[in-house]
Amino acid sequence: VIEQGQPDHSIVTTCAYCGVGCSFKAEMQGNQLVRMVPYKGGQANQGHSCVKGRFAFGYATHPDRLTKPMVRDSIDDPWHEVDWEEAFNFAAQKLKGIQAKYGRESIGGITSSRCTNEETYLTQKLIRAGFGNNNTDTCARVCHSPTGYGLKTTLGESAGTQTFESVLKSDTIIVIGANPTDAHPVFGSLMRKRLRQGAKLIVADPRQIDLLNTPHMDHALHLPLKPGTNVALINALAHVVITEGLEDTDFIHNRCDERAYQQWREFIADTRHAPESTAEITGLDPEQVRRAARIYANASNGAIYYGLGVTEHSQGSTMVMGIANLAMATGNIGREGVGVNPLRGQNNVQGSCDMGSFPHELPGYQHVSDAKVRARFEAVWQAPIDDEPGLRIPNMFDAAIAGSFKGLYVQGEDIAQSDPNTQHVEEALRSLECLIVQDIFLNETAKFAHVLLPGSSFLEKNGTFTNAERRINRVRKVMAPIAGKEDWEVTVGLANALGYNMEYNHPSEIMDEIAQLTPTFTGVSYDKLEQLGSIQWPCNEQHPNGTPTMHEVDFPIGKGNFTITEYVATDERTNRRFPLLLTTGRILSQYNVGAQTRRTDNQHWHDEDVLEVHPSDAELRGIHDNDWLGISSRAGQTVLRARISERMLPGVVYTTFHHPGSGANVITTDSSDWATNCPEYKVTAVQVEKVSQP
Ligand code: SF4
Repeated sequence: VIEQGQPDHSIVTTCAYCGVGCSFKAEMQGNQLVRMVPYKGGQANQGHSCVKGRFAFGYATHPDRLTKPMVRDSIDDPWHEVDWEEAFNFAAQKLKGIQAKYGRESIGGITSSRCTNEETYLTQKLIRAGFGNNNTDTCARVCHSPTGYGLKTTLGESAGTQTFESVLKSDTIIVIGANPTDAHPVFGSLMRKRLRQGAKLIVADPRQIDLLNTPHMDHALHLPLKPGTNVALINALAHVVITEGLEDTDFIHNRCDERAYQQWREFIADTRHAPESTAEITGLDPEQVRRAARIYANASNGAIYYGLGVTEHSQGSTMVMGIANLAMATGNIGREGVGVNPLRGQNNVQGSCDMGSFPHELPGYQHVSDAKVRARFEAVWQAPIDDEPGLRIPNMFDAAIAGSFKGLYVQGEDIAQSDPNTQHVEEALRSLECLIVQDIFLNETAKFAHVLLPGSSFLEKNGTFTNAERRINRVRKVMAPIAGKEDWEVTVGLANALGYNMEYNHPSEIMDEIAQLTPTFTGVSYDKLEQLGSIQWPCNEQHPNGTPTMHEVDFPIGKGNFTITEYVATDERTNRRFPLLLTTGRILSQYNVGAQTRRTDNQHWHDEDVLEVHPSDAELRGIHDNDWLGISSRAGQTVLRARISERMLPGVVYTTFHHPGSGANVITTDSSDWATNCPEYKVTAVQVEKVSQP
């Protein structure tokens, strides 16, 4: 990558950072990337971009890139460089040996939302058909798995309902547990545009997010609830809607399951859900909660957007269902300007889930227990598929420590840094007899690996990503893969070494196979993507050009399904030993664990993670800006510098996790969502004390 120069050609591709999925023109001089220019024809971004997609691409040619496959017998041995065939054979022999000794279920794999749809599809295919079990999972487990469960249960489809553009038709926008201007900047700007045009904003978040400071905005209401009390709040909002007669009876009667609605109505009308009854739990002024409910219910078009502040809780799935209940009760589903909209963190979280990377679902959210579904896949894959769901990521860790799980293929995910309770993860990784890591850098997980397979960056591959609005965008190869293979070719090589035959000439053939087996993708092809620019699924016979707004006429399950959402307090409670609650988030210039952005100039904008502490908590502990603070939880301890900030509630502290030294996941605990095991990153009881410099 060179900074200056005159491009001689350009190639349109898709940003590999957040779930907005902006299109860029990669302007090239020969084989060198000169710059990334936001593409005006991009249907998700229409020529806009943020500092990550625009400037943070230099990591692709960073000297730290892995360029050669490497193997070693033990994690105490030095690495040996080998060629691709040797690496595949080494890995295959290890995995076969493990299965011969410990059984078919003793190995599995984890894929990543960084990967393309085609790569993800192949990885889960390799595991189900080549490994012969369903031990496949994805990093979406630790972010939006409750979205998959909650939306499928209530609305019948594991996806957001709207296009991004839809927000320009909203009169009221509710944002819960999301920070769009930092984490989804191009969409955050679109929201701001609508707010400046007069839409009302309601934010439910323990922290004062920047959206609340939008200039020339008429109405903004902040509900700074205590971390871990989302479900109490959503029930209180629904209680006001029902008891004040603000529900949309026509929508409920025509579109929803009457019996489920009546049961839910009886549940939610109980006075224990009233804003006054839940005020002590949420810490919110009941009048403000009532006001928020009335604003949303009375809007012509009310839209709800939410992020990881909803999903990463012990009641993440319950909260997603509570949001869908509220939207159905007020008739805010099935047209522009309304809906339930998860803001997906990574570029391809939606696609990773769509492509069958969860252990219980084949591509298109088709359950492995369905014999007819399995028969269709078995016919094409020429291999039997287990009818039982396999292990989830936390189950794999537990089984590894228990000694029954011995081999793991990790593609594009730094689980040692990004999963909660680092000590537990490291113990699991150390227990493996074969860990295969496929990544672009020698990450923290690779320290425990026996096989390193160099990955390819988004600039070195063909494929597709699916953004948060279900939009399938083309990823186009801009330069040759540094290590000689695109990621999908690596999975093919590993499969063939294991004796499971895979043959593809181009990712378009993989997409054709996906379309053949996935009812919501039957109309998707690379030719159509070229023709239309992008496609929002479902794309099939009924919707040949895709579906911008979901659930316009009916739900995939027929009628909308109201679900009981009882509030249950998290186990992460404060006490004398751990008197504060820690919550985590992201900032604009950095991305997740920072593996990419820290290797670009964006590093200079944010070179360390800090702990935000409210002035009252700081005064109590004699803490000043830049003091070093020891932070301890039930899981572990770390050290961060202090930043005094009024953006947090008293009693709540906040940090980001963009740098390996932050140790944020050393202190997060094993607590997780009851339905999906999504970790409760957003609530950790901690103690904070001044310490001398680490
Ligand atoms: Fe990339 Fe998201 Fe920024 Fe768009 S908003 S440029 S997709 S990081």
